[in-house]
Amino acid sequence: MAKIHRLTPQQPRMFRAHVLRTERVSPSLHRVTATGPDLADFPWRGYDHWFRLFLQLPRQHRLRLPEFTGTRWYQPYLAIPEDERPHCANYTVADHRPDVAEMDIDFVVHRGLDGEIEGGAAIWACGARPGDALAVLDQGVLFDCPPDASEIVIAADETGLPATTNILRSLPRNTVGHVIQEVPTAADRRRLDGPPGVRVTWVVRDGDGSVAGTGALRELRRLTSVDTAGYAFVVGESTLAQEGRRHLNRLGLPKDRITFSGFWRHATSAAA
Ligand SMILES: Cc1cc2nc3c(=O)[nH]c(=O)nc-3n(C[C@H](O)[C@H](O)[C@H](O)COP(=O)(O)OP(=O)(O)OC[C@H]3O[C@@H](n4cnc5c(N)ncnc54)[C@H](O)[C@@H]3O)c2cc1C
Repeated sequence: MAKIHRLTPQQPRMFRAHVLRTERVSPSLHRVTATGPDLADFPWRGYDHWFRLFLQLPRQHRLRLPEFTGTRWYQPYLAIPEDERPHCANYTVADHRPDVAEMDIDFVVHRGLDGEIEGGAAIWACGARPGDALAVLDQGVLFDCPPDASEIVIAADETGLPATTNILRSLPRNTVGHVIQEVPTAADRRRLDGPPGVRVTWVVRDGDGSVAGTGALRELRRLTSVDTAGYAFVVGESTLAQEGRRHLNRLGLPKDRITFSGFWRHATSAAA
């Protein structure tokens, strides 16, 4: 993951909440709306603001959270006995409404070879009921566009769709650039409220059997030039993130003008 310290909270706060409602917003994305008094204070900064999500597993009778100060949450998390340790995964704020203390989280519904939903967080989201407990640990924003950037390039698979959506909402209206957004099905495409000078290319897998991110990477590799004073944000399956960054850097975009993050790793992904 790119080292972006400037936008990372130095004293990240844990926000307790519970499920208010859930909704399948498109075939591959399940939205959980969380609420609770803490969420009125979540310092949402737009863009790809993300957090660590802690979830109570079905066999647990309460949501036990790591106790820590500063940024070192992982060792205290591991110190929780395994049968009480919550499931933890990384997610992006899909929307935040401080006036009613609500936060939306969009979960990609990913399935194993047998067609069953897989992944602790995705399974939890699809079965979530009003009142179920959760907690979010604020991690800040990765998107770190230099103020002098001449253009932006964004490439993402569906796990990056909440990030893309809110980056486009947050950017100055005079921004120019190109977004390459991959989704599993045509019905997962959504209206993106971005600056008029940012072109959006949707890549739809439509059951072609390819690993998520492959199509976005193919589209990104069609770029034969970039403005070296631009900025790029490449997230999703680890091969897309790593090979996408390599391609943009080969075209002349300096590494410190590329934020890349492997949001998840496919079992057969060769990239480290
Ligand atoms: C900064 C950041 C922000 C993120 N924001 C979001 C977000 O807003 N929405 C979102 O859905 N994801 C997001 N992700 C990705 C998410 O954290 C991973 O997909 C995570 O693995 C999901 O956790 P899980 O418990 O469901 O699956 P895990 O238990 O981690 O994985 C179980 C199995 O599922 C596979 N798998 C995991 N994710 C996928 C996938 N998307 N497609 C196919 N197979 C998969 C794994 O390879 C593994 O074999 C983000 C990641 C990061 C780092």
